[in-house]
Amino acid sequence: MPIDDAPSRLAEIREKIARAARLAGREPESVELIAVSKTQDAAAIRPLIQAGQRVFGENRVQEAAAKWPELRETSPGIALHLVGQLQSNKAEEAVALFDAIHSVDRSSLVSALADAMAKTGRRPACFVQVNIGDEPQKGGCLVADLPGLLAEARAADLPVAGLMCIPPAEVEPAPYFALLAKLARDSGCSALSMGMSSDFETAVNIGATHVRVGTALFGTRVK
Ligand SMILES: *Cc1c(COP(=O)(O)O)cnc(C)c1O
Repeated sequence: MPIDDAPSRLAEIREKIARAARLAGREPESVELIAVSKTQDAAAIRPLIQAGQRVFGENRVQEAAAKWPELRETSPGIALHLVGQLQSNKAEEAVALFDAIHSVDRSSLVSALADAMAKTGRRPACFVQVNIGDEPQKGGCLVADLPGLLAEARAADLPVAGLMCIPPAEVEPAPYFALLAKLARDSGCSALSMGMSSDFETAVNIGATHVRVGTALFGTRVK
């Protein structure tokens, strides 16, 4: 068996997360590894499920709806996290399919999710996505708009778990992670979804409770 297969990459990433957590004086179990399986097919995902991974992330509702019902039937206990942008007209489908939604970033989506939860009776954990570098074209609410959006989400009784960010590319991410951690402290949010393949250890050091790792687990995405 080759050393460079998904189960050994999984073990290595778990070890790195545990080391980074201990260095920061945290319990390794306080960090949830979300295996981001977007563009990966069932054959690529199954070995990770067999290796014990239960939490997966997808960025498209349609793709997840096509892939996961069958995988879930054969593997109980799977939790699915939506890490990509969500259109309001797909809110109901997303609420039915996902256990957590990391991309709540505007008022219209807060209302759509509240309606979908009332209708379906399902309450996936919600993360408010912050455009932490205030970059044009990027998803997430502006830092300045966060208090207002959080207040709306709480008033609409969404189960707000915490904050999520994708820092600007090609620059040191630590200051952005630290800013998200501060925003979370200031607003009484406990969960922090931050850190991807290239920077999850830094994120864990700064307090990430959820890291979203794709390529480091599955290899380079082809699509
Ligand atoms: C694709 C994606 C990830 C995983 O990225 P990798 O660099 O492949 O680890 C994490 N978060 C979001 C929001 C993504 O879209």
